[in-house]
Amino acid sequence: MDSRVAVASLGGTITMTGSGPVAPTLGAQDLVRGLEVGEIATLATIPGASLTFTTLLEAFDWATGQVADGARGVVIIQGTDTLEETAYFFDCLWPHDEPVVVTGAMRHPGLPGADGPANLAAAVSVAASENSRGRGAVLVLNDEIHAARWVRKAHSSLMNAFQSFPGPAGLLVEGAPQYFHPAHRLPSLPRPETVPAVPLVEATVDEDGSILDWLDVEGVVVAATGVGHVSAGMAEAISRARFPVVVASRTGAGTTFRSTYGFAGSESDLIERGAVMAGWLCPRKARVLLRLALGSGSAAEDVFAVRGSVF
Ligand code: ASP
Repeated sequence: MDSRVAVASLGGTITMTGSGPVAPTLGAQDLVRGLEVGEIATLATIPGASLTFTTLLEAFDWATGQVADGARGVVIIQGTDTLEETAYFFDCLWPHDEPVVVTGAMRHPGLPGADGPANLAAAVSVAASENSRGRGAVLVLNDEIHAARWVRKAHSSLMNAFQSFPGPAGLLVEGAPQYFHPAHRLPSLPRPETVPAVPLVEATVDEDGSILDWLDVEGVVVAATGVGHVSAGMAEAISRARFPVVVASRTGAGTTFRSTYGFAGSESDLIERGAVMAGWLCPRKARVLLRLALGSGSAAEDVFAVRGSVF
């Protein structure tokens, strides 16, 4: 029984080396040097863009096993490009009070001011802390702690690339986490055996929605304009769809509406046509949630009613 923090690596910039352009080479053992941690595992050595739900489910099983063996928290290291999606994936499935913390780096180990060691040390400190319990999954980078549900990579390269609306859940102060709100965790979904593919389709100007007719899938997320609007043509395509369609806002912050607008393609029209509104979830998080809901046999409407709303 090891009550220290367990650390697993999946790859990403934090693991990348090379004399020219860098690629993932380092494992978790190389990264944790000097840190007081328990179990260490390298589960993959790949860039964030190549991660699959299969790998994420393996990481979830590993993390759950560590908690069952007594770990006080778990850190998952990976590429920052998809870190917000992994954080949310864990947040939806994580049934424990022990914290699960995802982290990575914006600068690879060969660059001046590489942030990997500081981010990893901060993530371990957050995962080990008593006041991180009961918060689900959090993302730690740049001395900020972000709730999985709200965080997004909002800049392609800066050290402060990760931002949350309405702001970070907490900060690291003198190396230890301090939170702005008491702990709160939503009920977790059952772990699915398999996860169906769900495309993400963006509503743009002069988009008639016929792409939805071509899809042979179990569900779709539409990144809609504003508070959940699409063209009249796309609204017709949503009516024709034989799979669940979840509508999220493409704006980057704010919630979808339900009853303010009444034109063809408006939020109230789409609800009438059977669409599920994503509420406060951005399209990428909505896609993660819909895949997990479909995979675990949960009704999309019920799951989004709980996870897409605030107090
Ligand atoms: N730039 C990415 C990172 O920060 C690359 C990746 O996601 O693997 O790790």
